[in-house]
Amino acid sequence: DLGSMARLTTASEVAKWLPKRVNESHKGSYGRLAIAVGEMQGAAILAGMGAARTGAGLITLMATAPLQMSSPLEFVVQVHPDGWTLPATAKALVVGPGLGQNVSRFANVLANFSGPRVIDADGLQLIENTSVCPDAAVITPHPKECAAMLGWSTEEVQAHRLDAARSLAAKTGAIVVLKGYHTLIVNPDGRVHVNPTGDASLATAGTGDVLAGMIGGLLAQSVDAFEAACAGVWLHGKAGEMAGESRTQASVVASEVVDCISRAIRSIS
Ligand code: AMP
Ligand code: MG
Repeated sequence: DLGSMARLTTASEVAKWLPKRVNESHKGSYGRLAIAVGEMQGAAILAGMGAARTGAGLITLMATAPLQMSSPLEFVVQVHPDGWTLPATAKALVVGPGLGQNVSRFANVLANFSGPRVIDADGLQLIENTSVCPDAAVITPHPKECAAMLGWSTEEVQAHRLDAARSLAAKTGAIVVLKGYHTLIVNPDGRVHVNPTGDASLATAGTGDVLAGMIGGLLAQSVDAFEAACAGVWLHGKAGEMAGESRTQASVVASEVVDCISRAIRSIS
């Protein structure tokens, strides 16, 4: 029982929340997203592709060493060996995908940015000791990451997903996306959405990175943070289902979820 505050995200509200493309526009109209690159560089690239396919105007990867893999030609890669450096025009930030351990040296990049941000994966360690996130922070833990942040076991989180997500929203002040089948999106103000899209096609490495980028891409386009979280999760789940239909659920890889984002958007617009 999810209680009266919980509702399913619908296709028509996702369509309403997505930014409109207008003729009188340019890439700056759709926002610059900065993504922190850590040890597993492919994760940041997947996040960037998720954002680009969801409409962000410009993707900048913030790296501390030259990339060991080729990045999409469309991305700007900035290498600053002394630490991540935010482009002055960044509208939104994604920190976490592929970061690796020893993340504390990067805490300043979050502290020095006041815009909307997505914090995922190892980036979540950066906020464990912070009781309240700034406005417009979306955190995207999977159940094990949620458990670590709450000091619960993963089994406790899965048995009490709504309690867990609500507790984490209260503890951090962030919008919590508790991932997994029927992902929950919890706003600290009490609103709860349950996501109806997504299936086991998504149970493969890298899909969480794609999701973080998709939500970041919507934040870069100035979508309200709770709506960006709900819409990003819905489209990601739909894209995963579509990838599973054209491959098989077992065969899907994360970059194919990226490839299906455009069809997921088309299906509702
Ligand atoms: P991560 O664990 O960070 O790689 O994220 C995995 C992504 O795939 C999240 O968005 C999950 O909600 C999604 N996912 C994984 N397994 C399933 C499943 N069986 N059904 C629906 N979504 C899933
Ligand atoms: Mg992950």
